[in-house]
Parts: sequence; structure tokens; C-alpha cells
Amino acid sequence: MTKKQLPDHLHLDTLAVRTAVDKSQYGENSEALYLTSSFIQPDAATAARRFAGEEEGYTYSRFSNPTVTSMEQRLAKLEGTEACIGTSSGMAAIMLMCMGLLKAGDHVICSQSVFGSTIRLLAGEFGKFGVQSTFVSQTDVAQWQAAVQPNTRLLFAETPTNPLTEVCDIQALADVAHAAGALLAVDNCFCSPALQQPVKLGADIVIHSGTKYLDGQGRVIAGALCSTKKLIDEKFMPVMRSCGLTLSAFNAWVVLKGMETLSIRMRAQSDNALALATWLEAQPQVGRVYYPGLQSHPQHALAMQQQSGVGGAVVSFDVKAGDPADPVVARKNAFHVIDSTQVCSITSNLGDTKTTITHPASTSHGRITEAQRQAAGIGQGLIRVAVGLENIEDLKADLARGLDTLT
Ligand SMILES: *Cc1c(COP(=O)(O)O)cnc(C)c1O
Repeated sequence: MTKKQLPDHLHLDTLAVRTAVDKSQYGENSEALYLTSSFIQPDAATAARRFAGEEEGYTYSRFSNPTVTSMEQRLAKLEGTEACIGTSSGMAAIMLMCMGLLKAGDHVICSQSVFGSTIRLLAGEFGKFGVQSTFVSQTDVAQWQAAVQPNTRLLFAETPTNPLTEVCDIQALADVAHAAGALLAVDNCFCSPALQQPVKLGADIVIHSGTKYLDGQGRVIAGALCSTKKLIDEKFMPVMRSCGLTLSAFNAWVVLKGMETLSIRMRAQSDNALALATWLEAQPQVGRVYYPGLQSHPQHALAMQQQSGVGGAVVSFDVKAGDPADPVVARKNAFHVIDSTQVCSITSNLGDTKTTITHPASTSHGRITEAQRQAAGIGQGLIRVAVGLENIEDLKADLARGLDTLT
């Protein structure tokens, strides 16, 4: 079926709903789901040309699939990049990036506050193959600058971070990277392109866990890497073909449909998060509240400038009762608040329309030592709430159940 040509210069909200490959001959309005491992070739000579990359056309779903292409095109439009590759998970996207860019003897500078599996992948797995990584402060650009070596190829950041919502200056890090002849990659999971487009601030690569806000309803594991057509074609597609970090068509379709409501969800969930954070700050049983949308956040001004004036939907806070310096007491209090909720889900995922609540010190950050946790600022009294779409009064009441009954 002939496609209605979309006009140029559409707004992001329109692109999020409309960008996709051409409709099939049946004229479906919702994008088709192509659940097929391979594609029939019209003849042997065409097959040969397509396998050699001399002619466009689908051959095998490990390399490409129209549903995955739709998801990639839509996300690339939202991030403002030329191209995108969908991957089986967020970690697979980071793996793909490292495989495509790094070799033994290369050096990476990474924030020490990024997702825990990212640190383990870089320091552990890639360390095994002779890639050296230096972990530096999330917020102190001077430390990134000081870590630069002649063999530095990549700077990797994530902003805001989990669970303390620390914000780094993407533009400043891009300047450090480019002066060193290196690339800057940003994990844009927490803001999504609805709030923050790292490429506009100078980043070269954007990483996504599609599992979080892009899907938005906690249904699938998915990921993506967005960048220039040149880097995708030359560095990342060859790795994709041989390594099979492939995003399944079904999961791509779920994320594709999720992106249609991304912007509206991000704004509504961020509004809820700001209201919850403001309320938490006024509670006597709450110590510090970590949320970029609050005036009290150390990088509030930078966050507002970098994130379209919106704080995102993740709020963390310290429970304060009894002796908060005693880790045993602090943990007991945090567990009481978590276990008293009747609406929030006790689960470590985020980016869902259902509000989730976790105790980072015993879950996402449970595998590091108490000293490392203290250094990272993640105390036993800390609770993370990834705010969803429930009514804000119900969420406040849900947290008040535990806060009001602390002993
Ligand atoms: C969840 C997450 C990842 C990993 O994504 P998966 O889809 O679980 O592999 C990477 N970075 C951040 C910031 C995340 O929250």
C-alpha cells in the first residue's frame, strides 16, 4: 500500500505516534507485528545481493525485521539521531557499544554512580579482555578531565542516577570527551527523550533500557543504541550481525506502542513525583529527599535546564526515626514503611505506570560492601519510589501508613 508521506518538521509527540515503516498491503492502522525468523527472497540472485548488503531487503531477523525497524526509526526520531539499533536488553545495548568501540589496551572513563551491571560489565567482563576503566564522580567534571589518558576512547554517563538522582552536565562531559578525541555515551533511561535529548547537548551515543519508560508498563525487556548512521553502519551493525544481541519483534512492537504515550506518561508521572517529593520533604519522619525537581537538590538548576524543566519520576528519601545513624534501626524503619504500603509494588523495576518501591541497600546495591554503600551515600534508611500514574493522594496515603506508625 502506498504510504501517505509525512510532512517535514513534525513535533516530537507526532513523530512518537506516526514514525514507522510503510504499512503492508492490508492498510493496518496499528503497526503490524512481523513474527518471522526469516524472509522469502524473490529469487536466488536477489538473495545473494541482499546477503552481500548490495541491495536493501529483509533476510533474517537476527539482523533486521520490519517491526524492529519501526521501533528503531521511532526512537531515533525522538532522540534526534540519524539511526538506532534495537537490542535484547539495555545491558545488551551497552555490550554492543563496548564491543563496537573498544579493543584491548583502550581506556574508558565512567561515572561511579551508573547502573550496577554497567560497572560490572566494564570493570569485570571488559577488564578481562584488557579494556581499562576509571570510575569518577558523577558531578565533578574536573575528575573526568583528570582521568583522561592518551588511550581514552569513551566517556560513559547516566543522568539522573539511580537511586540518588545525581545529575551530571552532559555538555561539559561532551567537551571533555571531544577534546580528548573520545566519544561521549549517555544512558538516557531515567529521562527518556521526552525530557532529555543528550545528542542535542553534544553526546555521540545514547543508550536505552527499553524495559523502563519506553515500554512504560513493565511488560518486556528491551534496549537500544542511538547514534550517527556512520557509527551504526561501521561500528555497531557488524557486531550486531555476528553477536545476535537481537531485539525480538514482539518486544520491539510492545516498545513501539509504548512510545506513543511516552511523552504524556513522562509528564504525568513527573508531576506526581514532584508532588510526592514536595510532600515527603514536609514529613517529620523523612530526612533528605532526593529529587532533581526540588529546589533543595544540589544540581536543581542544571537538571531543570537539561531535562526540559522536569525532574523525572524517580524519588528517593531517607526515613528518619529513632537513631538514624544506626544501620540496624534505619533498615528496620525503611522496611516498615515499605511493608506498610498497600498500593505500591515492592519490586525493583522502574518506568512502570504502577508505582514501585524498593530498598536499594538490600536489593540493587546489596552486593557491595557496607563501606562502599556509605561512600555511595546509599544508607540503610534509603527508600526509592519510581512514581507511576496512580492518584497522588492515594500514593501519599500509602507512604503515610508506614511513616505515621514508626516507633
Ligand atoms: C535497567 C537499566 C539498565 C539495564 O537495562 P535492562 O533492560 O534491564 O538490561 C541500564 N541502565 C539503567 C539506568 C537502567 O535503569
